[in-house]
Amino acid sequence: MSKLLDQMNELAAEIAVCRNCMLHLTRDKAVPGEGNVRTKILFIGEGPGANENATGRPFVGQAGNFLNQLLAMAQVKRQEVFITNVVKCRPPSNRDPLPEELSACARYLDRQIELINPLVIVTLGRFSMARYFPLQRISAIHGQGQWVNDRLIVPMFHPAAALHQPSLRAAIEHDFTLLPAYLQQAKERIEPKPAEVPEEKAEEKPAAAEKPESGEASQLSLF
Ligand code: URA
Repeated sequence: MSKLLDQMNELAAEIAVCRNCMLHLTRDKAVPGEGNVRTKILFIGEGPGANENATGRPFVGQAGNFLNQLLAMAQVKRQEVFITNVVKCRPPSNRDPLPEELSACARYLDRQIELINPLVIVTLGRFSMARYFPLQRISAIHGQGQWVNDRLIVPMFHPAAALHQPSLRAAIEHDFTLLPAYLQQAKERIEPKPAEVPEEKAEEKPAAAEKPESGEASQLSLF
């Protein structure tokens, strides 16, 4: 097994027995996240629901089925990306995670991001968006990638919210079609082709990324 995979597995084992907040008292299984640890795209949701709590896997219920459809629309294979949440244990009755739960769990997400080192992070819903853009409203910035410390952060609506609200559904479907172009943009900025090496890299962050046209997507390598 690779060192990276070993490190991710060790972290998952730590999360499975974590008692850093009260959510450990009501969980059946912690949900560390799953997917390809060498991916260039990381998805961050909110927290496990009932199905995730029962199985230990992220996004396996109704919202997960919709996420699978959205990934297919973006021509992204689920097994090629990594999917996790801001909190790794289910908040009772699917309530919003509390500030102390978010901060107790943040160290795990920080470590996952450090290990995976993704080029693009898609935040699903307002709690993961708030890690990067605490003062923004999701309705104003969804689908708009912005550079934060050399990663392209793309906020999107949460699939569970979008599933039942037609206007959000159309928006999230459209936003997902932008993903391949955002990935391409991120690759070109981080690993510019020799002829395109900029003389000086832009300094100010976060900087708005160029919003891609939807429809220009094609299957891209995620590794
Ligand atoms: N909603 C989330 O935010 N995460 C999951 O894992 C499932 C549903």
